[in-house]
Formats: sequence, structure tokens, C-alpha cells
Amino acid sequence: MSSADNLSVLVVGAGFGGLACAIALAKRGIDVRVFELAEDLTRQGKELYVKGITRLCIDLNVGDVIMVGSNATRIISKWGGGLMDEIWKMAAQPSTLKIKDKSGKILLEQPLANDFDGYPNIYTNRTKLQNLLYRHALELGVRFTFGARVTDYFENDTEAGFSLNGARHSADAVLIGDGVHSKGRSFLSGIPEKALKSGFAVYRSWFPLDNLRRSDLTRQFADADEDQFAIWIAEDTHAILTTNVKQQSCTCFATHKDLTDIEESWHLKGSVDDMLDVVDGWDPVLREIIRSIPPDDLIDHKLLWRNPNKKWVSGRGRIALVGDAAHPHLATSGNGGAQAIEDGATLATLITRAGRHEIPIALRAYERLRFERTSLTQRMGWETRHRWHQTDWEAVAANPEFLKFPQPEWLNGHDAEEYAAAHLDKVIEHLRNGSPFQSSNIPAGHVHKDWTIEEMMAREGQKADASFYQVDN
Ligand SMILES: Cc1cc2nc3c(=O)[nH]c(=O)nc-3n(C[C@H](O)[C@H](O)[C@H](O)COP(=O)(O)OP(=O)(O)OC[C@H]3O[C@@H](n4cnc5c(N)ncnc54)[C@H](O)[C@@H]3O)c2cc1C
Repeated sequence: MSSADNLSVLVVGAGFGGLACAIALAKRGIDVRVFELAEDLTRQGKELYVKGITRLCIDLNVGDVIMVGSNATRIISKWGGGLMDEIWKMAAQPSTLKIKDKSGKILLEQPLANDFDGYPNIYTNRTKLQNLLYRHALELGVRFTFGARVTDYFENDTEAGFSLNGARHSADAVLIGDGVHSKGRSFLSGIPEKALKSGFAVYRSWFPLDNLRRSDLTRQFADADEDQFAIWIAEDTHAILTTNVKQQSCTCFATHKDLTDIEESWHLKGSVDDMLDVVDGWDPVLREIIRSIPPDDLIDHKLLWRNPNKKWVSGRGRIALVGDAAHPHLATSGNGGAQAIEDGATLATLITRAGRHEIPIALRAYERLRFERTSLTQRMGWETRHRWHQTDWEAVAANPEFLKFPQPEWLNGHDAEEYAAAHLDKVIEHLRNGSPFQSSNIPAGHVHKDWTIEEMMAREGQKADASFYQVDN
């Protein structure tokens, strides 16, 4: 097998996918350069919309929460360098998820797994996590170019790259992690793509826990020693509260029906009054939490996405999509960032093992190893939301566990790096000779079936029979 000697890779986008690729590749001695659209990674959501800088408005890294599953912390922990310790210093780890109806009645108290194999499931601030990853990448010698809008890709049999402001950049491979609105995806498919409406938007906020101390109704959350995680569910809407004791902060989200034209805005300032309207008549505690959101710290984030995309790799095999560019996730999967990190670990393993001349087969192996798993985790976002939004109260009464947020072993207990190393030879044989290859990073016995957003949207508002749910929660 070949080594990483003199291999070079260009990464587009410094989100979780791009940064994971950069770190994992650099750790294996590969020369990595990252090109990021934003001017830097320090600007928070508030600044994005207050300044009205449209160039930054597609940046998801506003100050809010991200759940980092143990399938991602397993990878991050192995990167070493004290990174996981730094992340842990600001992490929350609620022990229970309380799922309530809109009146505030608890329907289910779900114990949450702290860890899988000692690798924690944590909740933290998205921007701070991104910046810790960025700093770690810098320490590994990764070079960054900010303010770079990359769109103009090329490849031949020996290299791939792009033109940027008149300069030509090339390397052995290009990994495109340019997010849900990916331009790289259009380059690979040859079709200018349009974002599809998911039909929903999310009010999102991250604000000081102190604000919850102001009212008798909400003080319980601020004074609790333990991190809190609560969800209120009803028809077509759910609201979430998370608290982070170490950071003395909290988040409140409300996912709601959104019928506005997607062209209007992808990232709007939200209004507390509008957010209150979507939970009109709901639990007074939730409404008080929403009233305590500072007006300038609320975003109404349109949930847009595309159908599962099967083409992650370019014709000559030197360019691949990673993260949401390859597999856009809904927030309710709670796993899009973690899957992007799994992509990085997988690619670094495969590229290093394959070496320069075999990059095309390494990238195709990546697509084959990852597609079925991420198609399912993408779908999981829809299924979880469906369980909460359709409010099948009969199913809930018969079995409150119906509402559980999934944390299955096949997902959280997975080691993407080890899986890639263990299956590389077999998957290459499969790609070259058509020998059988069965994914084992999906639930045992699961048979992959393609699905579309249109199919999922058609089930909105309907009760679903057991065959609808492909992810066992
Ligand atoms: C409301 C919400 C909540 C979520 N909660 C969770 C959660 O709890 N846990 C979880 O695991 N996932 C969660 N997700 C999903 C997760 O945020 C995404 O799956 C993840 O951010 C994908 O990472 P990425 O690197 O592919 O894309 P992004 O994080 O979007 O990064 C893409 C980067 O590419 C840059 N870029 C874009 N275009 C260009 C260009 N042309 N040239 C150069 N750079 C470019 C962008 O500026 C950005 O920095 C949530 C998503 C949403 C919307």
C-alpha cells in the first residue's frame, strides 16, 4: 500500500466536514489547504444579520447548540492534542430528555446515554466547537484562505483543483464541504440545482442562562445543577430548550411550518412575537422562556435541502463532496455534523491507504462506504420529526417510547475510521469486479431503499404505519 508522502489535498469550506477532512488528512502527513467563503470563523449569527452581509448569510455557524454524538467524539478524541479536553470544558451532558405535550405534560422521560465505549455524547456551542477544530487544524500546519468563494472546479487524470480570482490551485484531490447550498454538487451533477423547501423553518437562539432567572416560571432551569434538555411537541411544531451549566447559557428553538418563498431569505432575523405566535396557547413555561430571548439573538432559519444525492465523486475520481454537500441533514437527525466528521475520518483513512495513483478508487470507495449510512441518518431527521409532529396520541398513549430520540448503537457506537480501514480491500474488489459488498455501518438486517423529499413531504400530517419508520428508535 502507498503512503501519504507528498500527497496534497485542497478542501473547500471550513465547516465541520471541511475541518474534519483537514485535520484527519494533516494528521496523516498530507499537505492540506482550506478555502473558506467567510472572512473568518469568529462572527456570530447576530453579527451576520445585523450587518446584512449576504456573503456570510449562508454560514450555519451561528452561536447556537450542536449535539456531538459519540460517533464524532470518538474520532475527535483520537486526534489527541488535548482537543477533546478543550471541548469537554464547555460541553453539556443532560442525563434525561423530557418530551412534553404542548400543555407541558410530560409524555416521556428518556434517559440519555452519556457515552458509547467511553466516548461522550455532548452538547456544545457550534461556533466555539468550529473554532476549536480550526485552531487544531492550524496547529497541524493546515493553511487557510478566507473570503474565498470557490465555484470553478477542474480535474484531469493526475490532479484536480479550481480557479479563484485568476489563480489556479491544484492538488492530488479536492474535497468539497461547501454545505447545504453546495456549488460543488452542481459541478458534479452538471445540473444547476435549486434548494427545495422542507416546508419548515426554525427559530433559533443562544442566550445567557441568567435570563431564565428573571421569572418564577423559568428559574428552575437556570438554578438546576444539571444540564437540561426538554422538547414540547404538537401538530407541525416542536420547541426545544437546552441548557449548558458550564457555559451558563441556553438555547431555545421552535421548528414551525414555513410557507414563504425560499428566495426571500435563507437566514433571517426572527421576532420573539412571531415565535410566540407559533406556540400560542402552549405551556406558559415555554412561552416565558421565549419571552426571555434577547430580541437581537433570534434567527428564523429556513430549512432547505435536497434529495439524497448519489453522486459524490467526479468523473475522473479526484473530486468528492463531504458533509451536507453530499448528504444534507435536517436538524432533527441531530447527526449531520457528526456525519460530516465521519466523512473526514473515512476519507483520510482511504486516501492515505490508496496513495496518489489510486485516489479515484479511494474516493469511490468512500462514496460506497458512506452513502447507505448517511441516507439513513438523513431520513432519521424526517422520521423523528414525523414522530413528534404527527402527534399520534394513540400510539403515544400505548407506547410513550414511540417518541424517543434515537441513539442506536449502529449510529453512536460506530467507528468510521476503523470501518474504512477494515472494509477498504473488500469494497475496492466490489467496485472493480462487482463482488458482493454488504454495508455493516447500518442497522443489522436493514436493506437500503432510495427515498425522496417529495415522498417524505407527502407523509407530513398523516399517521404513518410501522413500515414508514426505517430507523428503530
Ligand atoms: C438548526 C440546525 C441544528 C442542527 N443541529 C445539529 C446537531 O445538534 N448535531 C449535528 O450533528 N448536526 C446538527 N445539524 C446539522 C449540521 O449543522 C450540519 O449537518 C453540518 O453543519 C454540516 O457540516 P458541513 O461542513 O457539511 O457544512 P457547514 O457547516 O454548512 O459548512 C460549510 C462551509 O462551507 C463554506 N462555503 C459555502 N460555500 C462556499 C464556497 N463556494 N466556497 C468556499 N466555502 C464555501 C461555508 O461558509 C461554511 O463555512 C443542525 C443543522 C441545523 C440547520
